[in-house]
Order: sequence, then structure tokens, then C-alpha cells
Amino acid sequence: MHPHVEKILLDEAQIKERVLQLGQQISQDYKGESILMVGILKGAMIFLADLVRNIDVTTYFDFMAVSSYGAGTVSSGAVRILKDLDKSIEGRHVIIVEDIVDTGLTLQYLVENMKSRGPASLKICTLLDKPSRRKVDVQIDYNGFSIPDEFVVGYGLDYGEKYRNLPYIAVLKPEIYQV
Ligand code: 5GP
Ligand code: MG
Ligand code: MG
Repeated sequence: MHPHVEKILLDEAQIKERVLQLGQQISQDYKGESILMVGILKGAMIFLADLVRNIDVTTYFDFMAVSSYGAGTVSSGAVRILKDLDKSIEGRHVIIVEDIVDTGLTLQYLVENMKSRGPASLKICTLLDKPSRRKVDVQIDYNGFSIPDEFVVGYGLDYGEKYRNLPYIAVLKPEIYQV
């Protein structure tokens, strides 16, 4: 275990099992269709990489990067596009792939933004959900795990851009967050 980690919330085996289930569910729901997975950088990249390997319908991916939390753990509220999609999503079956839905502000912005581009359908897939912190109502179609209100890192999620490479979802020791 990484020395900065206080506790592991979800270990590798739990994540692997759940990501497999989500992949199978998506494969079933989109049978005979092709899907465009839109990964939200950078947090969702590990999740997306594992998820798509459990999907057996024709799958494309694209990426978007938005600013939300900056380096800290408190939401700035403002959402800004840092990197837009490479191609049009008009007429495509789009699934937004997020690492975590917290207040829901980022996702609300993304959903409105993508809807305006005329996809054939739009669904949301997130690895983690923190329902207790929700400020706006967003409909999540595929949720890996609901977790309590703690700031987590690992499996793509960062604190100050660190810890994304941890293979599990963990809470850091309090003294690490205080810096
Ligand atoms: P929201 O707009 O829903 O409040 O925040 C969404 C974004 O904030 C997530 O995509 C993620 O980048 C970041 N975020 C929210 N909660 C956490 C957390 O517990 N850990 C980490 N590392 N990032 C979080
Ligand atoms: Mg994110
Ligand atoms: Mg972050």
C-alpha cells in the first residue's frame, strides 16, 4: 500500500468485477449498435480503458477535458472546456464516461453541451457516485459504486495530479490533504 494512503475503499478485485458487469450491461443495451464513448480527461482514462475491453459491440472513443476542481478538493463551480471532441457526435449513440459525480455541476454542463450537438442518444456512465454531495439533479445510467462523502484518489483520480496510477480507490491520510 502507498505510504500516503489511509484506507482502501475499493480494491483491484472489486473494481475489476464491477467494470466487467458494467461492460456486459452496456454490451447488452447497445446490441447491434455502435457506440461512441466520450471519456472525460484525465480522471476517466483508466476506467474507460478497462471498461471498453469488456464491451463487445463496435466501440469508438473520443475525449474531452474540462476544468472543475483545479488542484484542491473544493469545487470551483465554473466549468471550462480545455480540450473539445475531435469530431461531430451528431446521430451517434454517445456515452459520457466520468470518473466521479460529486455535486453534478460538471456533468450537468457536459450533458447540456453534448445534447446541443444532436447525438442519437446520450447516456452517462460513471465509476463513482457521491450522492450525498449532489447540488443539481443528473440522471446516471451506469454507476460503478456509490461512495460516502470522502475525497478519494487512485484508478485515474488525482489529488494535485498525483496518485492517478494507484490501482485501487483510496482515501489519503489527513496530513496529506492539509498541505
Ligand atoms: P462535480 O462537478 O460533480 O462536483 O465534480 C466532478 C469532478 O470533480 C470529477 O470529475 C472529479 O474530477 C472531481 N472530484 C469530485 N470528487 C472527487 C474526489 O473524491 N476525488 C477526486 N480525485 N476528484 C473528485
Ligand atoms: Mg471527472
Ligand atoms: Mg482532479
